[in-house]
Amino acid sequence: MKQEKVWLQHYPKGIPKSLHYEEKSLHSYLEEAAAKHPFKTALHFMGKNMTYQTVYEKARRLAYRLQQLGVKKGDRVAVMLANTPQSVICYYGVLMAGAVVVQTNPLYVEKEIQHQLKDSQAKVMICLDLLFPRVEKVRAQTDVEHVIVTSIKDYLPFPKNFIYPLTQKRKNNLRVHIVYNEITHPLKEILSTKAGKLKDYHIRPKEDLALLQYTGGTTGRAKGVMLTHYNLVANTKQCLTWMEKTKKGKEVLLAALPFFHVYGMTTVMNVSVMHDAKMIILPKFDPLQVLKAIQKHRVTLFPGAPTMYVGLAHQPKLKKYDLSSIKACLSGSAPLPLEVQEQFEQLTKGKIVEGYGLTEASPVVICSPIWGKRKPKSIGLPWPDTDAAILSQETGNIAEAGEIGEIIVKGPQVMKGYWSREQDTKAAFKDGWLLTGDMGYMDEDGYFYIVDRKKDMIIAGGFNIYPREVEEVLYEHPAVQETAVIGVADPYRGETVKAFIVLKEHQHVTKEELEEHCRKYLAAYKVPHQFEYRKELPKTIIGKVLKRTLSEEENAAEEKT
Ligand code: AMP
Repeated sequence: MKQEKVWLQHYPKGIPKSLHYEEKSLHSYLEEAAAKHPFKTALHFMGKNMTYQTVYEKARRLAYRLQQLGVKKGDRVAVMLANTPQSVICYYGVLMAGAVVVQTNPLYVEKEIQHQLKDSQAKVMICLDLLFPRVEKVRAQTDVEHVIVTSIKDYLPFPKNFIYPLTQKRKNNLRVHIVYNEITHPLKEILSTKAGKLKDYHIRPKEDLALLQYTGGTTGRAKGVMLTHYNLVANTKQCLTWMEKTKKGKEVLLAALPFFHVYGMTTVMNVSVMHDAKMIILPKFDPLQVLKAIQKHRVTLFPGAPTMYVGLAHQPKLKKYDLSSIKACLSGSAPLPLEVQEQFEQLTKGKIVEGYGLTEASPVVICSPIWGKRKPKSIGLPWPDTDAAILSQETGNIAEAGEIGEIIVKGPQVMKGYWSREQDTKAAFKDGWLLTGDMGYMDEDGYFYIVDRKKDMIIAGGFNIYPREVEEVLYEHPAVQETAVIGVADPYRGETVKAFIVLKEHQHVTKEELEEHCRKYLAAYKVPHQFEYRKELPKTIIGKVLKRTLSEEENAAEEKT
C-alpha cells in the first residue's frame, strides 16, 4: 500500500521535507543546553526562575540516587507529579539514570495506579506526598521497591492563595505525614545532596525506550506505548522544523498542558529544552492566570487543548491583555471547534493552528502550517518524513482523495509497539502503517480532515452519523459554549443522537430552538432529538470530553427506568 505524497507540493517554503535525526538520547539535549548556557533560565514557576545548570544538576543527583537504589538501564521508574519544576527534573533524572519514565496521571485512583505499576513492573515510583497514601495501598501488589516522595511544601515559593490543582483544597488541609524509612525517600534531600559519577550505560536511541506512556484506558485496560529516545527526538525535531520562524534560545513557552501527557511532554517540555527556550510553568489551567502570564512573560509559543482556547475565548477580561508576543498556538488532542478557532484567530491575529496526533506517534503526525496556507476545518499536512493515508473501509486499500476511511500513518515518531502485548501490537499495524482508529479524509492537495473516532460513530437506522459533525453545527449556535454528542439506545433506530449542552453565561435556548437550528444544517437523521443541559462536561485532565462517562451515565439511567 503506497500513498503518493501530494502534500509535499503544498509545503510552506522553507520547511524541509526530510530531516536528519541525531541518534542521541533525549537527555543529552539537557546536558548540552546546560553546558552551552548554564545561567540561562530554563523554567519559571510561581515567581522564581531555575537555570539550565540547576535543572541539569538536580536531574543528575536524582539519576545518581536512582542508580544507588539499584535502578539499571531499561528499568521502569513511575513518575506521578503535577506540572512543577520537580516534574521536569524527575523526567530528565530518570532518563539520565538510563531508565524508562512511566508517566502516571496524578488523578488516577488506586485501581488505575495498581494496573500501571504492575503492568510496567516499575521498580521505583516518584510521587507527591498527597498521593502517597494511594500508592502505599497498592504497593504490595506491584514490583515497586522504593518510593521517592516530594512534598507540596517543596514547591518553589508557596503563596498563601495557592490552591492545589488536584484537590482544589487549601494548603492547610493538605498535610500528609510520611515517616521515611528504607523504602520511602524524600526528593528534597536527594536533590540537595551532591552526586558522584554516574554508572556507565550505552543508549541505542532507536532500540532503547525513553518512555512507557499508558493509553487506551477509555476502551479497556490501559496499554503501555513504547516510545524510544529516537521516536521522541524525531517528533520534537519535526515540531521545531514546523515552527521554522522561531529562534533557538529566544522563545518563551507556556506550559499549561500536563507533562504527564505525551502532548505536553513533547510540544512543551522537549521542545523547550531542545530549543534552549524558557518555560513558564503554570500549576493549573486558569484562563486569567494564562492571560496574565502571556502578557508578563511575553510568551511566544502556547501549545494547548481546545478546551483551553474555549476557556480563554470566554474569559470576560480577555480584551484587557496584550497577547501580541504570541507567535503560535498549537491546538491538539481533540477537535478544535471552528467557531472557537475563528474567535481565537482574531485575538491572536491568525496564530492558532490545529494539529493531530496520538500517543502511539509521540504524538504529532499532521498539523496545519503555521506560516503557510491553512484550510478551514483541516488538521493540515503530514510532518516531515511522515506518511499519512486513508484506508478505505470498503476495499481495504488506500482510498481516493475525498473518500472517508481510517487515517493510517508511518514515520520516525511511530511507536515500537505496546509493552508486553504482542497481539495488540500486531493488530495496531497493517503493512507497516499504524492504524489510528480515527476516521477522516484527504483532499486533492493532500490536506487531511478528521471526521471522528471510529468507535464514536453512531449508527441510527442504518445511517452512519459522526458526532463531531453534529457538534460543529451546535457550536455555531450563539448560546452554546460547549457540547458533546453521543449515541444512545433507541428501540426503533438501534441508536439515536443525544446532545449535551453547556450554555454560555446569561444565555438561554430551548431544546426546540436547538433542534430547529440543527435542521437547517443537517440531514434529518443526524438531528438530535434528545438534549440535556449541563453546567459542565466530564473531561480528562487534558480537556478531552469523556464521552464514555456520558454514555455510562446514560446506560445507568436507562437501567433504572
Ligand atoms: P491520545 O493518545 O490520548 O493523545 O489520544 C489520541 C486521539 O485524540 C486521537 O486518536 C484522536 O481521536 C484524538 N485527537 C487528537 N488530535 C485531534 C484533533 N486535532 N482533532 C480531533 N481529534 C483529535
